[in-house]
Amino acid sequence: MPLSLLLLSLCLGHNSAQAVGGALTDTSHSPHARLQSVDMDAVRWTDGFWAQRFAKCHDVMIPNMWRLLEDPNISHAFANFEIAARLRPGRHRGPKWHDGDFYKWLEAAAFVYALTRDEKLDRQMDRIIKVIGKAQRSDGYIHTPVIIAGRQQPSETAEFRNRLDFETYNMGHLITCACVHYRATGKTTLLAIAQKAADFLYETYQRSPQEIANNAICPSHYMGVVELYRTVRDPRYLELAKGLIDVRDRVEEGTDHNQDRIAFREQRQAVGHAVRANYLYAGVADLYAETGDESLRAALDAIWRDVAHRKMYVTGATGALYDGASPDGSKSHSAIQLVHQAYGRPYQLPQVTAYNESCATIGFALWNWRMLAIEPEARFADLLELALYNGVLSTISLDGRNFFYRNTLRQVDDLPFELRWSEKRETYISCFCCPPNIVRTIAEVGAYAYSTSPRGLWVHLYGANVLDTRLSDGSALRLRQDTDYPWEGRIAITIDKAPPQEYSIFLRIPAWAEESQLSVNGKPTAENLKAGGYHEVRRVWSTGDRVELTLPMPVQLLEAHPLVEEARNQVAVRRGPIVYCLESTDLPDRVRIEDVALRPTQPFRHRFVEDLLEGVVVLETSALHLAGPDWDDSLYRPLPANEPDRLDIRLIPYYAWANRGDSEMTVWMPLR
Ligand SMILES: [Zn+2]
Repeated sequence: MPLSLLLLSLCLGHNSAQAVGGALTDTSHSPHARLQSVDMDAVRWTDGFWAQRFAKCHDVMIPNMWRLLEDPNISHAFANFEIAARLRPGRHRGPKWHDGDFYKWLEAAAFVYALTRDEKLDRQMDRIIKVIGKAQRSDGYIHTPVIIAGRQQPSETAEFRNRLDFETYNMGHLITCACVHYRATGKTTLLAIAQKAADFLYETYQRSPQEIANNAICPSHYMGVVELYRTVRDPRYLELAKGLIDVRDRVEEGTDHNQDRIAFREQRQAVGHAVRANYLYAGVADLYAETGDESLRAALDAIWRDVAHRKMYVTGATGALYDGASPDGSKSHSAIQLVHQAYGRPYQLPQVTAYNESCATIGFALWNWRMLAIEPEARFADLLELALYNGVLSTISLDGRNFFYRNTLRQVDDLPFELRWSEKRETYISCFCCPPNIVRTIAEVGAYAYSTSPRGLWVHLYGANVLDTRLSDGSALRLRQDTDYPWEGRIAITIDKAPPQEYSIFLRIPAWAEESQLSVNGKPTAENLKAGGYHEVRRVWSTGDRVELTLPMPVQLLEAHPLVEEARNQVAVRRGPIVYCLESTDLPDRVRIEDVALRPTQPFRHRFVEDLLEGVVVLETSALHLAGPDWDDSLYRPLPANEPDRLDIRLIPYYAWANRGDSEMTVWMPLR
């Protein structure tokens, strides 16, 4: 065991299965984070939307995904570790990043364990960690494709031969997962493996910064190494984290694809592969929280605005294009490169061909969470919430067993071309990066609900839960949140245990919630609650004190910036944080999805339907059916003169589409 870890274990006395506590992202000692995260087991969903999903994560998603990952005839992810550990014969199969897929699942299991203390999960993790430990090389390197190949042809294989081997990506997920596992269980088994891997990265960085720079594809290790520093406080890991960003500036033949064509500190726009981009930005935000390097912050702020104001879908999804080109607009043809699953130009947001890899949306949520910690502004929490309810949840079926790789905004039958990724959710995807990423995100939503600061408690996400935490000065705070959010905007927070001193509760008022109302112990506050900000309530609290917040949830029709050409003269529909869609399942057979138009002044009724899609609020309205003759082979035609018919329609939450068999779907609808 490395000395620092041994000391940590000795001084904390944690080799037994006692949780040591700690947050998913532990900013408790980060000098430039203004918010501190609450412990992983501090928030328990009690009822409603997220309680339902957390239970499904525990009962279905985690066991179902283990079945996929451990069956060599399906995924080979665990078999690769067993082969690398010499526990079974064979060769590596599956994508080069398959180790990382496995660690993401393991992280979900560890986080769920932190809240459930499910002993079966604990034993299962112990067995798995033993195999991972046996697979690791004595120098700390761990990446099963190279380890397995090295057994067969030692002279032909070495680490970092090919940047598309995703070695640092895999090790990054291992390191993040190990921090979660250690905090959840108190066991240092996986943390010791991760620390050896980080030491290997550190030594490689010292010996050959160029090598580490050239092999930072999809850099999950930036977040991982900072989190490891927060866990064990070894300053070498902070030095490594800084170095990993600095060496990007010297990448040979950098590309926009990998965001390393120009130095990070000079970047002001989101470019390239959106998962790689969002992981980079999230990792840099973590680094800023530790260092306060303003040149990093300037880049982060500008890139965030570029995405939030010009490159994000209305669902919070990012990474619009199957394939883009870079540098865009170069006068030199030889400089143009293909960029896969790219951030496109500003406002380039196609619908049918929207790419939106599930991992990109998750990366965007991770990035917003880290921006929120360094600058507690509601705009970051608003987008975190938008992504969670829409872009993230749409990636998984309601039964928890099927997954989208890409996430379209409009699906139509009879496309005259075939898209590379399935138009249906699949049980197993050959590129399995997204499904375990989705499962860990659903497990961890509670970690994003609250933060603390020296001034008090920050409430970011609403949902029925209990919070049991400590404020920055160590005093205990317990409270209960009762609400039917996101279906209704009434939220009651009851204090169960209050510190004796005065402190504040900061309530996020989402940007869509104009004219929200607040009362404390039944007495309405006269203050105006600013939408898109945090409202501070400061007082000495007592047990039984009750804060009631009402966020109005009118149905809102959204239009897009005029330069979003694919959404011209169309609207999307949102109520509260939920974006809605029209699915063909809800239309009569004779009505095609593209022929339904909304009327701007026609009101919507909202109604909770318990037995539909596991319980959703649907929106009903009278729309128009723009029936014309069927299209022939022509590209253009005169507008049909007939008056459209009235048509009653029902919209469902976007996240719930494609759960009732094959269908067409659209988020944006024409306005007439
Ligand atoms: Zn993915």
